[in-house]
Amino acid sequence: MKTPQLLNYERDQWVAGAGNLAEISSAIDGAPVAMTGSGGLDFGGMLRHAREVGGPALRKLTFHERARIIKALGLAIMARKEELYELNYLTGATRKDGWIDIEGGAGTLFSFSSKGRRELPDAHVLLDGQLEGLSKNGTFVGQHIYTSLQGAAVHINAFNFPVWGMLEKLAPTLLAGVPAIVKPASATSYLTEAAFKIMIDAGVLPPGAVQLIVGGVGDLFDHLTGQDIVSFTGSASTALKLRMHPNVTRDSVRFVAEQDSLNASLLGPDAAPGTPEFDLFIKEVATEMTVKAGQKCTAIRRAMAPAQYLDAVEQALSERLAKTKVGDPRAEDTRMGALVSVSQRNDVIQRIRELEAAGARIVAGDPNARPPIAGGAFLPPVLLRTDDPWGNDAVHDCEPFGPVSTIMPYRDMSDAISLANRGKGSLALSLFTHSPNAARDFVQGAAAFHGRMLVIDRTNAAESTGHGSPLPVLVHGGPGRAGGSEEMGGIRGVKHYMQRTAIQSSPAMIAAITEQYVPGAPKHFIGTHPFTLKMSELHIGDTWKTDARTVTIEDIEHFAEFTGDKFYAHMDEEAAKASPIFEGRVAHGYLILSFAAGLFVWPDPGPVLANTGLENLRFLTPIYPGDSLRVELTVRSKSIKSEETGQVRWAVEVFNQKDELVATYDLLTENVP
Ligand code: NDP
Repeated sequence: MKTPQLLNYERDQWVAGAGNLAEISSAIDGAPVAMTGSGGLDFGGMLRHAREVGGPALRKLTFHERARIIKALGLAIMARKEELYELNYLTGATRKDGWIDIEGGAGTLFSFSSKGRRELPDAHVLLDGQLEGLSKNGTFVGQHIYTSLQGAAVHINAFNFPVWGMLEKLAPTLLAGVPAIVKPASATSYLTEAAFKIMIDAGVLPPGAVQLIVGGVGDLFDHLTGQDIVSFTGSASTALKLRMHPNVTRDSVRFVAEQDSLNASLLGPDAAPGTPEFDLFIKEVATEMTVKAGQKCTAIRRAMAPAQYLDAVEQALSERLAKTKVGDPRAEDTRMGALVSVSQRNDVIQRIRELEAAGARIVAGDPNARPPIAGGAFLPPVLLRTDDPWGNDAVHDCEPFGPVSTIMPYRDMSDAISLANRGKGSLALSLFTHSPNAARDFVQGAAAFHGRMLVIDRTNAAESTGHGSPLPVLVHGGPGRAGGSEEMGGIRGVKHYMQRTAIQSSPAMIAAITEQYVPGAPKHFIGTHPFTLKMSELHIGDTWKTDARTVTIEDIEHFAEFTGDKFYAHMDEEAAKASPIFEGRVAHGYLILSFAAGLFVWPDPGPVLANTGLENLRFLTPIYPGDSLRVELTVRSKSIKSEETGQVRWAVEVFNQKDELVATYDLLTENVP
């Protein structure tokens, strides 16, 4: 049977690469799986298509519309996941490994979709921080905003997570309104291509939003501009080469790199053999060595323990690893499958030899073990030990990207910190301790060198997501050797694909630009109570002005008695006068809020379903008995969540009889769209 050829997706067409094709082999037995190549593609044309067709189409959509597309992509992947699981085996991965890649990838889309709808406005511009006052009379103000980059995102992905690796980059990119050109690692590109095809088949993406290159990137980098962004995952050496491309340096092309890192796990000084933390540490190190055959960017390469416990660690880990059944990833009793390719296995063996040459010794696992299936890229878990991590640079520098880890001793906390930091920057570090003091000292000493840190003990282990799992809501990336970048981290990850601009103008202009009401912008006073209007009938800037109400000393005393809040400033005239802030007894802040609600709330059931919270509350002017209050309630922004509900953000401004601002806050309500 002819080996199938993978297709590129160029300018909304499936295109077979011309010229020399590369053969991709099965990790299980070396049989050919697919031919691949990208010869003949017009790489400059692909970038232009992304910029001229994909970008404008995506930027026309609001954050919420893009978020709904991302969800639809996740649903499409889930509906056809079994097709992907079949291909996943050929990469050497077990079904459990594939779950992280395939369903973990879809889960990342769902997470970004939901964050996008909850945390971003149903608009095109994202505000960064509050309005900055820049003038005495408030006519000239500043506001930082984020808008979508107008280039393309070039995603260069690693072989180890062909689906998740694509989706964890695509989700924030598309949410940001930026089109992407995806280039998977060749070794597993057949799985990426299949997942990509599912997304195209879903028919929810605008033209030009995504393109795929299965093979080399040709002269793509020669066509990059300062509006493009490269997001790379893979080896430090490739990252360096690409980062040094003259276009990237000359045009300040954003370069997000996530590269190999010597992640560590530390057994706390209190975690002696016999403690729950000791057992948890052993389990986690063994898991990280064997999941995905250790081919995880976050896998534990260095396992550190107090010197007096190192023998116990060696014994417990060796015993646990000996139970790992290595074999055909399709078999149910297989615990660990194959590495991605024979050449990757040979590379790992070469690194093991380098570690041995530097003085580490193998204490479990045989790199020369016969593969369970001829031609397959199998390697049993190999545990190394060094007793001199201080004089051995290799254990902190050399990364065998497979089921390999090195155990090493530390003397005390400051020694543990300096050894952990000798990896020169990592993606993930875990500490197993039940001592809050040890956790504080270690994290404060080491956090600057690590992108994500887990402190695991008996209280959180059962619910822990584990050392090696990057999460869509948390930052993935690390300083220095780990690439110096961040991915994901919820909405933080979206901002990498957007430009922050400081806008200086009048409040009216800022409101027009951001499609949101901002304090000081013109209001449109309406005669119909806004709580009787559906979201579709409300407009940004619509304002309801209430009647005024006088606050009496009886009101203050009644409120104090009723709630139990008898703070001196409300109840003790002498003490209030003596304070540097008040001239006498004042109304409670909570009383002001309650009266404000009493002034603006519409009592009957209607389009406003519930009050879901207040934000940015400030009390600015004290209210004395005899003062009066009135409220201006303005529609600040609106976002539809579903067909049944949406959220309105109201700017609430409470004034006194002199029109001085008494309190301001944002009120959030759940509304009928
Ligand atoms: P590479 O850096 O070789 O490849 C990573 C990606 O870059 C692949 O898509 C690859 O494509 C692409 N690439 C390679 N050269 C170029 C180039 N000149 N221009 C554009 N794209 C290029 O890493 P590998 O996947 O081969 O893995 C090697 C090592 O990287 C591992 O042993 C491990 O140490 C580390 N690694 C780290 C990961 C992490 O997440 N931190 C993940 C995977 C690997 P192609 O496959 O077609 O060459």
